[in-house]
Amino acid sequence: MEILVVGSVAFDTIETPFGRGQEVLGGSATYFSTSASFFATVRLVAVVGEDFPDEHRHFLAARNVDLAGLQVAPGRTFRWSGRYGFDLNEAQTLDTQLNVFEGFQPQLPEGFRDSEIVFLANIDPELQLEVLRQVRRPRLVACDTMNFWIAGKRQALVETLRHVDILLINEGETRQLANEPNLVRAARAILALGPQTLVIKRGEYGALVISAHSIFSIPAYPLEEVFDPTGAGDTFAGGFIGYLAATGNITDAAVRKAAVFGSVMASFTVENFSLDRLRSVSWPEIEGRFRKFQALTAFEGLD
Ligand code: AMP
Repeated sequence: MEILVVGSVAFDTIETPFGRGQEVLGGSATYFSTSASFFATVRLVAVVGEDFPDEHRHFLAARNVDLAGLQVAPGRTFRWSGRYGFDLNEAQTLDTQLNVFEGFQPQLPEGFRDSEIVFLANIDPELQLEVLRQVRRPRLVACDTMNFWIAGKRQALVETLRHVDILLINEGETRQLANEPNLVRAARAILALGPQTLVIKRGEYGALVISAHSIFSIPAYPLEEVFDPTGAGDTFAGGFIGYLAATGNITDAAVRKAAVFGSVMASFTVENFSLDRLRSVSWPEIEGRFRKFQALTAFEGLD
C-alpha cells in the first residue's frame, strides 16, 4: 500500500553539544519519507522555495519517493533552527520561518487521491485537514504535531484529530494538549478526541503505544553515541507507518512490531546529522537492529 504524506521539507540549522549543522536538509516529511521508503512507496505533498537544490530532490526520488505533489513556490523554503543541551530529549526551538508554507494550498495530484494510508506529518493542522479533504477513502490516517501548533492552532488541531486513527506525539506535548500532568490520564483525554491509538514518543526512554484496552512499551535502543536527535520522531513514524503499509494488516500484533521498526529507524537517524545516517543504512543493518531489540526486551514469564 502506498503512503501519502504531507509535512514540512526544510532547511534546519541545529546545535548539539557535539556539533553544528547549518541549513542541512530536514523537515518532518523528509525524515518520514526517507524512513518509510525502506518499507513502502511514499507520495509526498509539500512545498519548497526556489532555493531548494536539485540534489535533495534527486536524493528523495532515488529512494522511490513520488514527488508529483512537491510544489515549488516563489520565495524561500521553510527554515527551522533548534538547539539541544546535554539532555537530548527536548529541542529548544530558536527560530521557525514558515516562508513558502504561509501561502501553501495543497493540491493532490489525481493519482494520489486513492492513497489508502495517510500520514499527516508535523505541519499546520489546517494544511493537514485540507489534504484529508482531498483523499477519497483512506484505510488509515495517522498524524503528528508539535507544541508550536498545539499552542498556536489548537482549534484546527482538535478538528484534525476527529479524523485521525493514530496520533504520534511527544511526551511533553501529550501533557500540553490534554492539559493534564499524568501521562496515562492525558492519553485517555486525547483518545476521547478521536484517535483510537496514541503513540507517545519519549526520546531516549522509547515510546508508549496506548489504546482503549492496551498499553505497549518499547525502549529506545541504548546507543553509546547519540549525535543529533533531530528527526527522530518523524523517522520513528516512517518506520512505524511504513511497516503497517507493507503488511497491510493493522492488527494489535502488527502495531507492536511496527513500533519496534519505528524505534529501529529512529536509532539510526540520531547517529549523525540530518539524514546522513539514513542515506547509508542498509536493510541487513535494519534487520540486525530489529533482532537486537528482540534480545533487549525478551524475558520469560512466571513459572
Ligand atoms: P522531530 O522528529 O520532532 O525531531 O522533527 C524535526 C523536524 O521538524 C525538523 O527537521 C524541522 O524542520 C521540523 N519542524 C520543526 N518545527 C516545525 C513546525 N512548526 N512545522 C513543521 N515542521 C517543523
